[in-house]
Amino acid sequence: MPELPETTVISEDVFTLAGGRRVLRAAVFRPDVTNVPMEEFPERLVGRTLVSTGRRGKVIVLDFGEVVGLVHLVISGRVLRLPEWTEPDRMNTAVLEFEGDTGEPPVVLAFTRLWLGYFNLYAPGEEERHPLVSRLGPDPFSGEFTLDHLGAAFRRKANIKGMLLDQSVVAGLGNIYVDEVLFAAKVNPTRRANTLTPTETRDIHTATRDILRRAIELRGTTFDSYHDAFGETGRYQHELHVFTRAGEPCPRCGAAILKTRVAGRGTYYCPVCQVA
Ligand SMILES: [Zn+2]
Repeated sequence: MPELPETTVISEDVFTLAGGRRVLRAAVFRPDVTNVPMEEFPERLVGRTLVSTGRRGKVIVLDFGEVVGLVHLVISGRVLRLPEWTEPDRMNTAVLEFEGDTGEPPVVLAFTRLWLGYFNLYAPGEEERHPLVSRLGPDPFSGEFTLDHLGAAFRRKANIKGMLLDQSVVAGLGNIYVDEVLFAAKVNPTRRANTLTPTETRDIHTATRDILRRAIELRGTTFDSYHDAFGETGRYQHELHVFTRAGEPCPRCGAAILKTRVAGRGTYYCPVCQVA
């Protein structure tokens, strides 16, 4: 599933392709792809200009001025530029056509394979009440993501891996980056959060920002389905230290990386650097 870096890249790509452009056509394939009646989807969007794009956690935010779109790609979703207008189908679940530059063809973007995902529309401000958005904790790059915030969240007994996956603790981390953050901070994923030392909490805080920033620079991590809106893969998979590296030597100490299950997720760690 796209995590914070991949969501950031796609959201920026959508702005590069369609920012400042007016919507000419819009449609969805199935009623459950959006929260408004299917025929209302184009009514709400056509004629509006894509003012800006952003993200909340793993959700892409498309600001059309009087309308705000929330796109959740969940596992398989992607954004793809199509050569020309195509009616939505099972693959191209939602399609938007934007005006082209003078003498240029329109820009058609397909939000593909939203099989579990969606493209919801809200009045400005109303999107804050969406359950996925209203329950989000601080963005890792915001001023609210402080050591005090983490310290307070870590007073619970839950394991640290589950804690960092919890979007109300910090918005945007998923399975890949949590394993990398915990490796960088030398913290075992099964550790109870309330046993962490202030130094370990600080190292998790620092690693979260460093790793996410680097992953955005390298345009995300691609294992299978993730591609940016230009169809290119990310490159951060080449810099992963533990995730999917079971059996390979730890880049820090040489011990074999182990795979286990924590918080219901496949979890990779170094048994020497990250002693339980
Ligand atoms: Zn190690």
